[in-house]
Amino acid sequence: MPSLVTETGSKSLDGGIIKFTNCRLVKDDRLVEEDLWVSSLTGRILHQQEAFYEYGVSPDQVVDLQGKIISPGFIDVQLNGAFGVDFSVVPENIADYAKGLAYLNKNLIRTGVTAYLPTLTSQRREVYHQALPYLGPTGGRRAAQEGSESLGAHCEGPFLSPTKRGIHSIDVLRSGDNGFQDFVECYGEKNLGVSPHSHGPKATVKMITAAPEMGGIMNAIPEVASRDIVFSIGHSESTYEEASEAAKAGATMVTHLFNAMRPLHHRNPGIFGLLGTSQQTPSPYFGVIADGIHLHPTSVKIAYSSHPDGFILVTDAMSLVGLPDGVYEWTNGERIEKKGPLLTLEGSDKIAGSSTTLLECVTNFLNWTGASIPQALKAITATPAKMLGLERSKGTLRGGADADLVILDESRDDSGHATLSIDQVWKFGHCVYSQN
Ligand SMILES: [Zn+2]
Repeated sequence: MPSLVTETGSKSLDGGIIKFTNCRLVKDDRLVEEDLWVSSLTGRILHQQEAFYEYGVSPDQVVDLQGKIISPGFIDVQLNGAFGVDFSVVPENIADYAKGLAYLNKNLIRTGVTAYLPTLTSQRREVYHQALPYLGPTGGRRAAQEGSESLGAHCEGPFLSPTKRGIHSIDVLRSGDNGFQDFVECYGEKNLGVSPHSHGPKATVKMITAAPEMGGIMNAIPEVASRDIVFSIGHSESTYEEASEAAKAGATMVTHLFNAMRPLHHRNPGIFGLLGTSQQTPSPYFGVIADGIHLHPTSVKIAYSSHPDGFILVTDAMSLVGLPDGVYEWTNGERIEKKGPLLTLEGSDKIAGSSTTLLECVTNFLNWTGASIPQALKAITATPAKMLGLERSKGTLRGGADADLVILDESRDDSGHATLSIDQVWKFGHCVYSQN
């Protein structure tokens, strides 16, 4: 059934105060029947008292959602590209890079992803210096029509373990013997922002995935964390002890748990062991790819049960999402074969990222674990926002947060299999996509 959009009050439809009614809001672990008020002028959600006392009688627009769900906008913290655009490929004409990004952002938002971390796989130094200036946070502009918003880049590599590199090219991997100095040399000083003691521009990089057991990487962690950049443990041979040391040093995230790390062993639980730790070592957040290929549903369930508050669904999607099956050129001269949702390095069975959407991952998660809808949505909204330190502005429907919203329809078939589908997407208080 289509949503009804009706206009009241005197201002134009695309402006002013909007009241969503007849809807269910995702609030923590519950769905709450409540109206939601947003301002398209500030692009933020209104506080309830504010809505009641100042605009109570006459919003400019009332949107009757006929029982649909309002979720905060989705956040993907590991996305390599989409719609044929690969963040790690810098074309000869750099203007084409910017054009590709703009195209991707406008399309990505239609999948419900209102904010994300554009993710670079391991590359030569030059690529970081060329690409990163384009991948920094774009939220300051608050331009809804630009589509999905970058929250900063995620550099996955090149400081990775050669034996856990997955499909990252071995030629570009670095051991990071000089610690943070090597990060500066590789990514560029500007892209890492300024040290906590000086004033200046913020980093374009928001997250770095690296193997803490390598070279001088462990020593670099506190400096990374102090610049408001998330250090994520990944593509790593870390033992449980090394992973714990990294967490104590300031690592707060684990990249695609289970993949590209030692498996859980009863005498050495490895990185996975961090999920079961106590007060001495804070348990990190962790990304999980629930595409039905990277992990067995039971592994996903075990990870979630171990530490539900750290559980973040990521796509790790490649630029091939949305393109037909076939063999495609990848970076560093290698090629990737796409067969449906399965991506492999040509001529091998190595999994090469995914071509899934965040909504598909949430739906899988719902059906595999029996989690509730708000619990599942938390893994792509509130939890990633918290991990990034953005919980006041993103991933929540509380007053003052950005009005990035996804309106969802829910259905279940006879066997109880749940499906979520996107009805509308709102960015900074403006409707940017509607199914109808
Ligand atoms: Zn990876």
